[in-house]
Amino acid sequence: MDSEEPMQDASLLAHAGRTSREHFGVVNTPIYQASTVLFPTLETYDRRESAKVRYGRRGTPTTMALEEAIARLERAAGAVLTPSGVSAITTTFLAVAEPGAHLLLPQSVYASARSFATTFLERIGVSTTFYEPGIGGDIEQLLRPETRLVWLESPGSLTFEIQDVAAIVAVAKKHAIVTGIDNTWSAGYFLKPLELGVDISVQAATKYIGGHSDIMLGAIAANDATLPLVRETAGKLGLCAGPHDVYLGLRGLRTLAARLAQHYRSGMAVAQWLERQPGVSCVLHPGLERDPGHALWKRDFTGATGLFGFVLEESDRGRLARMLDGLRFFGMGASWGGFESLLTPSALPKARPCPERFQAGQLMRIHVGLEDASDLIADLDAGLKRMRR
Ligand SMILES: *Cc1c(COP(=O)(O)O)cnc(C)c1O
Repeated sequence: MDSEEPMQDASLLAHAGRTSREHFGVVNTPIYQASTVLFPTLETYDRRESAKVRYGRRGTPTTMALEEAIARLERAAGAVLTPSGVSAITTTFLAVAEPGAHLLLPQSVYASARSFATTFLERIGVSTTFYEPGIGGDIEQLLRPETRLVWLESPGSLTFEIQDVAAIVAVAKKHAIVTGIDNTWSAGYFLKPLELGVDISVQAATKYIGGHSDIMLGAIAANDATLPLVRETAGKLGLCAGPHDVYLGLRGLRTLAARLAQHYRSGMAVAQWLERQPGVSCVLHPGLERDPGHALWKRDFTGATGLFGFVLEESDRGRLARMLDGLRFFGMGASWGGFESLLTPSALPKARPCPERFQAGQLMRIHVGLEDASDLIADLDAGLKRMRR
C-alpha cells in the first residue's frame, strides 16, 4: 500500500491517495455521491467542523484521494479540486485579488485566463500587465508596489514558449510576490514548479490527468504559505468538482506515466518528421534542438507531452480544408490530453501581439495521441500532399 517514503513518480501515480482498507479492500476509492453527511449524536454534530467529511461540497473520500495524489505529484503541501481548469485559474487569481491589485500575466497565457483578467478582474479594480514570456529576470521592471501575482505558463498556449521559471521566481521572491503557473502541459509529471520555487501550480485535469476526453476538472496544488488562502477562496466561491469526474480523474491518473511516455515518444517522432516537410515553415516543440526554448526545457523538464504547434506556409482556407477534412486519425475540436490525436488551426487572441515568426502562414496546434506514430505520420503526409496538390 501507499507510504510517505520517497518513490518514483510512476510508483506514486499507482499508489498515492489509495485508501483500500477503508473500503473493504477495494482497490479504487469509490464514488461518494453525497450532499448530506449524518452525525450520530449531538456531540459529534456540534464538533462537525473538525470532521474529515462533513458535507458534500466540503469534500468526500473520493475528492480527498485525488487531491492527495495530485499534491504529491506536484510536491505541494496540498491540492484543491475545482470543476474545470478555468475555475482553478480564476480561483487562484481571486485568492490574491483585491481592489487596486496588479497582476502580471504572460502574453502566451491561456485565452480564458486572459479574458478573465481583462473583463471580470478589470471590473473589480484589478489591473493586469501582459509580459513577453521570454522576459526572464527583466520582469523586475514591470513590478509595481501593488503587484500581487506573477503568473507563468510554460510552454505558453498555442505558441509554446518556454519560460525561465527560476529567473522569474527569484525576482518575485525578492519582492515577496506570490507566483503561480499553469502546469497543464506537463501534467505535473514533466515539470515540478514547486521545486523551482513557484508557490501555486494549477492544472486543467481535464487534459492529461483525465486522459480520455470525457471529464472537466481543475486542480490547484499549493505550498504551505498559499494553500490556506487557496482552500478558503475555493470554499467561499462554493466550488466543488463532481464525484464522477473526480473518480475518472483518479482512474486517469493511475496510467499517467505510461501514457505520457508514449505521448512523449510519438510527439517527438511526429515533430521531427514535420520539421522536414515542405510547406511547414516552423515546428514549435521545445524538445527540438532548434527550438528557442530547447535549452530551458532541457534544464527544467524531464520530458515533453504530445501537444505542440507548427506553422504552415499556406494559409488558404480551402487548401487547409483539403488537408484537415480528409484525415483518418486527427480530429478537430477543443481540448487535448486524451488518447486520441487532434489537429486544428490556431487563432491567437486579438489582444495578443503575434510573434514575428508566425506572422506569415497558418499556425496549427497538434495533439499526438496514443495511436501508432507511423499511422499518424502517414495520415499527415497524405494530408499535406492533398493541401499542396
Ligand atoms: C484547457 C486548458 C485550460 C482550461 O481547462 P478547462 O478544464 O477546459 O477549463 C487551462 N489552461 C490550459 C493551458 C489549457 O490548455
